Amino acid sequence: MSRLFAGTKWDRPPTCDRCGKLESECTCPPIVPEPVRIPPENQTARLKLEKRPKGKSVTTVSNLDPEGNDLVSLTATLKTKCGSGGTLKDGVIEIQGDHLTTVENALKGIGYKTKRG
Ligand SMILES: [Zn+2]
Repeated sequence: MSRLFAGTKWDRPPTCDRCGKLESECTCPPIVPEPVRIPPENQTARLKLEKRPKGKSVTTVSNLDPEGNDLVSLTATLKTKCGSGGTLKDGVIEIQGDHLTTVENALKGIGYKTKRG
């Protein structure tokens, strides 16, 4: 399909939407595509209760793809549900304390399949 004003004085070569320069001169960085998320129902989160030194328990959630999930936001959600502190470390969510059941129910509520141990 030819451009609407092709051959007229309004005919302009394509320019970049962001910097306004000719596309041939544009040096804008390529647009980073939105990460592709994996539907929760296609994933199985592994839940584990781990004992830490000084007798502390930590509930961990692993086996979730860091690219396919917004683990930062999921960690925040779980911390709120459990009313507890937690961190995201190497793609594994750690929630302080024994919150296996709460975490399990929260994940199931979102749609994840879960597996203990
Ligand atoms: Zn540009």
